[in-house]
Amino acid sequence: MSLLVVGSVAFDAVETPFGKREKMLGGSATHFSLSASFFTDVRVVGVVGSDFGAEEIAVFKRHEVNTDDLERVPEGKTFFWRGRYDYDLNTAHTLDTQLNVFADFKPKLSAESKKSPFVFLGNIQPDLQREVREQMQDAKLVALDTMNLWIDIARESLVKTIEGVDILIINDAEARQLAEEPNLIRAARKILAWGPKALVVKRGEYGAAMFAGDSYFAIPAYPLESVFDPTGAGDTFAGGFMGYLAGSGATDEAAMRRAMIFGSVMASFNVEEFGTERVQRLTYDEINNRFRSFKQMTHFEEIPFERNARVRQ
Ligand code: AMP
Repeated sequence: MSLLVVGSVAFDAVETPFGKREKMLGGSATHFSLSASFFTDVRVVGVVGSDFGAEEIAVFKRHEVNTDDLERVPEGKTFFWRGRYDYDLNTAHTLDTQLNVFADFKPKLSAESKKSPFVFLGNIQPDLQREVREQMQDAKLVALDTMNLWIDIARESLVKTIEGVDILIINDAEARQLAEEPNLIRAARKILAWGPKALVVKRGEYGAAMFAGDSYFAIPAYPLESVFDPTGAGDTFAGGFMGYLAGSGATDEAAMRRAMIFGSVMASFNVEEFGTERVQRLTYDEINNRFRSFKQMTHFEEIPFERNARVRQ
C-alpha cells in the first residue's frame, strides 16, 4: 500500500570523527523515503529550491519514489543543515540551520497523495504536521516524528498533533522531555494516554523499544564495528518500520515487532557511510541477511530452572 511522507528535503554538511562532507543529499523525508522504498510505493511531500538539481531528483527516481508533490521554488534555496558528531555518535551538534524555502513551506497534497493509507509526518513544525493529518481522513495508519526544537518552542501544538496520530516514533531523550518525566516507562504511559496506540523509542546504538498498550518490546542495535555517520539514522529507521507495515498492509502487534527489526536493519546500513550513500546501493539480500542476524542475536531457549540442577553440574 502507498506510503506518504512529509518532511525536510535538504542539503547537509556533516563532520564526524571519521571524515566530513560539505554538501550531500539529506533531510528527514529523504532518508525516510529511500529507506521505505525497499518495501513499498512512497510519495514524498516537501519543498526544494532551484539548487536542487537533476542529480538529486534522480536519486528519488532510481528508488521509484514519487516526487509529484515535491514543490520546487524557482528563486529559492534548499533547506541546509550543518552538524557535527564527536566520539559520542548518538548526539548531533547542530552548527547551522538555514531554513531557506522551508521557512514558508505549506505542504500541498495532490488528490492521489491524499489517498495514501499509510502516512509518516516527518520532523517539521507541528501545525504543518496537523494540517497534513487533517487532509488524510481515510488513512489507515499515521505515524509522527519530532525533535527537541518543537518540544521547546511549540509543545502545546505538538501534543495536539500527537493526539491525532497512531504511532509516535521519537528518540529516548525526546520522549522523556516531551512527557516531562525522567523515567521512560512512565513517560511512555503518559504519552500513550494522549491517544497514540504505540510509542516507538529510538535509542541510537542501544537499539529501540516499543510500547503498545500494556505490551513492551525491545531490541538491540545491530553490532557494528565502524559507524561513520549517524545522520538520518532515525528517519531511516522510521522508513524501514513504516515501509514494512505499508508493504505488508498489516498493523497488528506481530507485524509491528517485525517492523522494528526492519527499521533497525535499515538504520544499521545507513550509519555505515555518509548520508544516503550506503542505503542508495543496498540490496535485498543484504537486508534479509541482516534481518536473519537479528533473529539469531535475540533468540534464546526457555528452560525450566531448578536450583538443584545448577548445584549438580
Ligand atoms: P535524524 O534522522 O534525526 O538524524 O535526521 C537527520 C536529518 O534531519 C538531516 O538530514 C537534516 O537535514 C534534517 N534536519 C536537521 N534539522 C532539521 C529541522 N530543524 N527541521 C527539519 N529537518 C531537519
